[in-house]
This record gives sequence, C-alpha cells and structure tokens, in this order.
Amino acid sequence: MDNARIADRLEAFSSLLELADANPYTARAYRRAAETIRGALVPVADLVRTGRVRELRGIGPGIETRLRELVETGEIVELAELERELAPGLVGLGRYLGLTTKRSVEIARALGVRTPDELREAAAAGRLQTVPGIGPKTEARLLEALAREAEPRPQRGLLLTRARELVGAIASALDGEAAGDARRWRDSCELLAVVCAAPDRSSLLARFAELPQIVAVVEQRGRRAVGVTVEGVPVELVVAEPERFGTALLRATGSPAYVAALEPLPEAPDEAAVYHALGLPWCPPELREEPFRGEPPALVETDHIRGDLHCHTTWSDGRATVEDMARAARERGYDYIAICDHTPAVGAVPGLSADDVRRQAEEIAAANELLTPFRVLRGIECDILADGRLDLPDDVLAELDWVQASVHGGQRMPRREQTLRVEEALRNPYVRCLSHPKGRLINRRPENELDLERVFEVAREEGVALEVNGLPDRLDLSGEHVRDALRAGVRIVCSTDAHSVRGLGNMELSVRTARRGWATPADVVNSGPLRSILAGRCL
Ligand SMILES: [Zn+2]
Ligand SMILES: [Zn+2]
Repeated sequence: MDNARIADRLEAFSSLLELADANPYTARAYRRAAETIRGALVPVADLVRTGRVRELRGIGPGIETRLRELVETGEIVELAELERELAPGLVGLGRYLGLTTKRSVEIARALGVRTPDELREAAAAGRLQTVPGIGPKTEARLLEALAREAEPRPQRGLLLTRARELVGAIASALDGEAAGDARRWRDSCELLAVVCAAPDRSSLLARFAELPQIVAVVEQRGRRAVGVTVEGVPVELVVAEPERFGTALLRATGSPAYVAALEPLPEAPDEAAVYHALGLPWCPPELREEPFRGEPPALVETDHIRGDLHCHTTWSDGRATVEDMARAARERGYDYIAICDHTPAVGAVPGLSADDVRRQAEEIAAANELLTPFRVLRGIECDILADGRLDLPDDVLAELDWVQASVHGGQRMPRREQTLRVEEALRNPYVRCLSHPKGRLINRRPENELDLERVFEVAREEGVALEVNGLPDRLDLSGEHVRDALRAGVRIVCSTDAHSVRGLGNMELSVRTARRGWATPADVVNSGPLRSILAGRCL
C-alpha cells in the first residue's frame, strides 16, 4: 500500500469523524497525519511493519493502531462502518444543499437511498414529501437547489490553507492547475476551481468523480463539472482544450469583476499568451480583485524577508524553546528572529512578568552566543490594557529590541473607546508594531470596532508599523487593509505569530496577504537588515 493511498484513507477517516461529530481534535489529528504521510519520503507501510511509524511527526499510539490495521488488512473497520452508516456521498450532497448531516442521514434512511443519484431520482419522482418533516416548501427548496445553475458556493468560505490543500491535491491528481479564490490567496475561499488541459474531456471527468476528495458530482455540463466534498464544499473542474487552456485558467482564477473588465478574452494555450494578446503585462493573481490593466508593481516576495518578528516559545504558549525557534529561523535563511511571548494580562495562557522577561534575556543571550552572527532579538507581545496602558512598565520595555502591542481582552469595546485605547498604546515610545490590528478570527470572530484611518494616522506619526499576521485564521491586516495602510504612509511587518517551529512556515501566507495589498519590499519592515530593525522607529 503506497503513501498516497494510506493518506487518502486517513483523510477519509478524518472527514467521517467530523461528520459523526467525534472529538474535533481527533479528526484534525488524522487530517494532519494524512498530510505528513503524503509528504513522507519513505514508504510508510514499511515504517508501520518495523514499528517505527511514530517517528513521523504527529503520529501517536492511536493513529499507529489504525495504520497497522490498514497496512495489515487493507482496511480500517471503523472507517468502513462509518462509510456504510453515513453514506458520505449523500451527506456531502446534503450539506451542499444546506442540510445538516443528521438530516441527510434521516432522509437517506427514510427513502432507502444510498447514493446522490438515487436521491435525485427519488426527488424527481416526488418522493421527498413522503419523508417525515418535509413539507411542500422544503421539497420545493431542495428540488430547486438540486437543479440550480448559479455559481456553486459553499455555505461559508474555507480557510485559505484548507482551500489550497484541497484544490492543490485535486489539481495535482489530475495534472491540472489550481484556480479560483485560492490561486488569488483570498483569506476566505468560496470559488474553488481546478483547470485541466485535455482534448477529450470524458476520461478527466471520470477521474474527477473517482477522487477521494469528491464524494458526489452535482453538476456536469459540457467541459465543466461541479463535485462536492464530504463537507458539502463545491469544487469546479474545467477541462479546457489545450489551445484554450490559458483563457480557461484566467477565467477560472477570477475575480469575476477583474475578468469581466478584460472580456472578450482572446483564446490562447497559456496565461502569458492571453495577456500578450490583450496587449497587457501579466498580472499576479493576488492583484486580480478589481479591474486593473496597468503595469503591476514589483511586489514583495517571501525571499525578501530577512527575519520573523513575532513568535512564541515555551515561556508562554509556544511549543519550542528559544534556541529551537532561533535555529529553525536560521535554517530558513533569516538573519534574525524576535521572541515575542505574552504578558500576564493575556489571561488564558501564561504571560511573562518583568522578572520573567529579564530571566528570558539570559536564555536569549545564550542562544545568541551559539548562533552568532544570526541574531535572536529580545521582544515581547505586550497586552494593551483596557485604558490603553501597556502590561509591562516602560523601563522593562526600554530594554527590549522589539515590542509588539496587542489587543487580546476587551475586543467588544465600542469603536471610539477601542480606537482611543489603541492610539494610546501606539503613543508609547517603545512600541514598534501593532499586532493583528483588527483582531478577527476568520469564520469565528468578527473584526474589532476600530477606526483604522485614525490608527494609520497615529502609527505614521509615531513610526509604528502594522502587522500582517500570518496565522491562517487571522491574516490580519487583510489585503484590503494593507492597501489602505500603505496609502496612508504606514509600513507593515510580515510575521507568522508562530507557536511552533512548523508555524514559522506561515510566512508565505503573510507575504501573499501583503501582496494582495500591493506591498513592495520597501513597504515591509522585515525585508530590511538587522541594523534597520535595531535602529528604532519604523518610518
Ligand atoms: Zn496575539
Ligand atoms: Zn502572538
């Protein structure tokens, strides 16, 4: 059994555990294990047989037991049972139609159907009304949804990381290209699309329907099909004739408004040729939100980043030590990293007091001793208290190389108070950067009420930079707000807010978000050398 097959089964298990409302951490652990196995360089089946599979990241005793069962018997019994019970194809279709998992399973049982096609037949034959609880109104809504021709959208946007993983896996399985919102690095993705080039569409459409990620094909017309995942997320597949591939890719990448302004699109085999025929320079997907026909600026790239200025360690809620984080940053080719653990007011997790900050300084000095000329900066993620004062006294902040100020508590404050509070913090002479300025958690918590225009004004006066936080559920500032900040003359910092060595890998998410805000290297503080970081104000 090869790694791809093992990973597919674990991923299916993860999705079904989610559907079965099992512990979400368990489901997530299986999804992560699937990722690890997909990327493993050695045959995982061999590691299982020789009892070494737990040396892989994220594989504990529970997952090892499942893996042994899978490798030895070719199947995971509980997974097969869940598949029988939940009929993932039906559940996926049901979720796409707006039904809960429970409701989909009830309907399937009542109608005695097992597959999406059987459900369609039953619906077309008018049998939906025989299901307890479905009246004429619900029936009409479901029939309409089954027949809809409008752009398919998920119930809510997917996190960018999840969308890229999903669309990327489908694209690579079909030798196609990821398109849609994920190719533009949108923070929350609704249009998920893959474009393939093939003279004959039928074999690709068949392969698409067979992919482990796709549980049901809800629509198929000409060279286009829409499949849904077990979560009910629609993914569009476009099979273009090779001589029109570039046109199809550009169109499927969007945004719809950007593409509409370029229509009619000439037909060409690759995207560069489409732009050439239009008489325009190629445009990076991150800039394709609004109509634009000009010369794109030279945007910042991940390679321009010289250091990460926001990360945590075991001193607060991080999982790695100062030295581990520093080594990992050096391996990424950085020149510096700022250790920014929390302060006590953060509440839910440990925070550093003034004494702790001074004790941590010794550990940082020791790491610098080992790693020079790489530089570990003494930083802090200092809470902004309700009245705008900071959570550590000025004499402590004055010792530090890099101070991030953060709102964690009191996020629901009214706009005026919140703005005054942040303004006050920005006036502190030691603050260098405002962390995750809007405080949103994508799909979970709305943005704080904050007058960004005013914040930009004060930040510019005080020489304070604004963070583009690279955590997948933050991406804060958003691309749109980065653009406003840059127009207001404020500089930005691309940071990961890493809580583990692996978390440092989110730099690309931050940089792509900055690119969506039209940022060039000069706009990004940490594209500069160490001495510019140590020089003080971010003007
Ligand atoms: Zn924070
Ligand atoms: Zn943080």
